[in-house]
Amino acid sequence: MCMLSADVAKILIDEVALRQRVRELGEQISRDYCGQDLLLVCILKGGVVFLSDLMRHIDVPHEIEFMAISSYGDATESSGIVRIMMDLAVPIKGRNVLIVEDIVDTGYTLAYVKGLLSTREPASIRICALLDKAERRKVPLQIDYVGFEIPNEFVVGYGLDFQGRYRNLPYVAVLKPERYRKQPGK
Ligand code: 5GP
Repeated sequence: MCMLSADVAKILIDEVALRQRVRELGEQISRDYCGQDLLLVCILKGGVVFLSDLMRHIDVPHEIEFMAISSYGDATESSGIVRIMMDLAVPIKGRNVLIVEDIVDTGYTLAYVKGLLSTREPASIRICALLDKAERRKVPLQIDYVGFEIPNEFVVGYGLDFQGRYRNLPYVAVLKPERYRKQPGK
């Protein structure tokens, strides 16, 4: 069997629900930043599918930039050690920064990124996360825009991966347990 979708145990958030909620978030962000400068900072790689849909529902002028962060490696549990793999290419002093992330779990990653970016003196800094595993939080973190709160399950799809794969699934899903075992060549 070569179909990726055959590895899925259950769909947690389907395409219709994603489209609807991402549109709502875009509309809310458009209202909140009306008449203001806006810079979306997407956290690679997981945030990229969310960003590309979200920005098409943001009806105010804005720019996009990218940062790459590593906190998981190939595991399904956060190591708590956050590494910047690629920093922003532009200064953010005086800008209204909105961090766009796929999922907040322990909160370590975004607490670190927000702290780091705050030292660069943006005019404001907020967080927009598609998914929130609130019950797993280890550090306090304000998430200004949340797509969906989800239970404590390791999810893939819509940008989220397991060992680099499954990002292209058009929904958010949980894999069959045997798929979370280490795969050959990984
Ligand atoms: P935190 O630092 O909040 O524990 O973790 C944030 C990062 O962990 C996310 O950006 C994401 O890369 C990864 N992560 C957390 N939970 C999940 C999950 O359920 N699925 C996937 N694919 N990645 C997750």
